Amino acid sequence: MPIAVEDVGTPATSGRIVPPGTKSGVTLIELLTVISIITLLVAMLMPALNAAREAARGSGCQSNLRQLGVGLQSHAARQKQFCSGAFDWTLDGCVTEYGWVADLVNSEIPVGTMLCPSNPAKIARTYNDLLRLNTPDPCSCIDVNRQFVGTAPETLPDGSEAIQPCWKIVKDSVPAYATTGDARHTLVSEQLYDEHYNTNYTASWYLVRGGPKLDGSGNLPAAPGGCTPSNPAYLGTRCATLGPMTLDSVDAAALGSTFIPMLGCGGTVPGELLAAPIGGEPQGAPVTQSMTGGPILRDAATGASVETGVALQYPKFNAGASRDGAIGAGWWATWGVCLQDYRQFAPVHRGACNILFADGSVRNFVDEDKDTLLNNGFAVNVGGFKSDTIELPREEVANGWSLKEKAR
Ligand SMILES: [Zn+2]
Repeated sequence: MPIAVEDVGTPATSGRIVPPGTKSGVTLIELLTVISIITLLVAMLMPALNAAREAARGSGCQSNLRQLGVGLQSHAARQKQFCSGAFDWTLDGCVTEYGWVADLVNSEIPVGTMLCPSNPAKIARTYNDLLRLNTPDPCSCIDVNRQFVGTAPETLPDGSEAIQPCWKIVKDSVPAYATTGDARHTLVSEQLYDEHYNTNYTASWYLVRGGPKLDGSGNLPAAPGGCTPSNPAYLGTRCATLGPMTLDSVDAAALGSTFIPMLGCGGTVPGELLAAPIGGEPQGAPVTQSMTGGPILRDAATGASVETGVALQYPKFNAGASRDGAIGAGWWATWGVCLQDYRQFAPVHRGACNILFADGSVRNFVDEDKDTLLNNGFAVNVGGFKSDTIELPREEVANGWSLKEKAR
């Protein structure tokens, strides 16, 4: 008599022989074991996958910066100047005509599509001004009727009229673009953002301001009405500075072009968020700084190289101060204790920041103490720095108040 298969056992789905009379399947313990092994494998793989993804984003960012660098170099070849200023409406003028973003977009380089992919902030701070303001910064010396509103309307050969979006906002009363409403929001979205006038890279103060504008006595020019000379914003304006970096100033710099930063992954503006949704960015999204801070005192009170527990301060500009004298009274002594403020560059690539230099190179700087700031010589607990670890070394990044100054 042939032996029935079920007499010796039934192959279960797992291939295991199940004795007669028992249920086939996997026990709970086995299932949990398999799940925990899979979980462990995924946990082991995830950091590697995330690292690979971030490495791809990091090289995407570096590639963006290299292309933007080529655009700035070709602008310099044509105009002797790397750009026409910062991407900042109230300090530099209408963003479709003035600033490095306009320079490149108008040369067919779609800057707004070349964002740093790792930066959680994807839109520039000046969009808040474009959505809300109608006047330039009181410390800027730009002409309201020229730079601020851009070129006046002109009739094109086909009979249509070309009107700058900034001109519409300030001058056109029908519809009322001047008020913060739907018409203005649509205008800013469609004629600025959708046309790629945007960036989340921050320009260096050297690139967009060149250096302080000093008279024969070493003084800065008097500040315009409405702006006090001691206003910390003053050194960020065109009134107090030489203007965007030129080929000649780079050639004459104490340090070679490889030391002069031009653009970097952009830091966010503390306490400021996007006022209304633009493109894919929701209202409340973080916004990036237009430029780095320029020269800053290491210690406003004493000028000592070791500071403790004070906020960083921009140099004070007392009208008529003489060239010679102590820190705060004489300009040379004051400049002598300044370092560049680079806190507006952000280590968004897992603690590293990409920076484009004037020789076209793009280099990566690591935030070693993980305080989200790159320290170039400030003491611990000053200006948000959690340690005095040097992350932007003077051997690699220009740090003085002027390009004419040697490293320190
Ligand atoms: Zn980046």
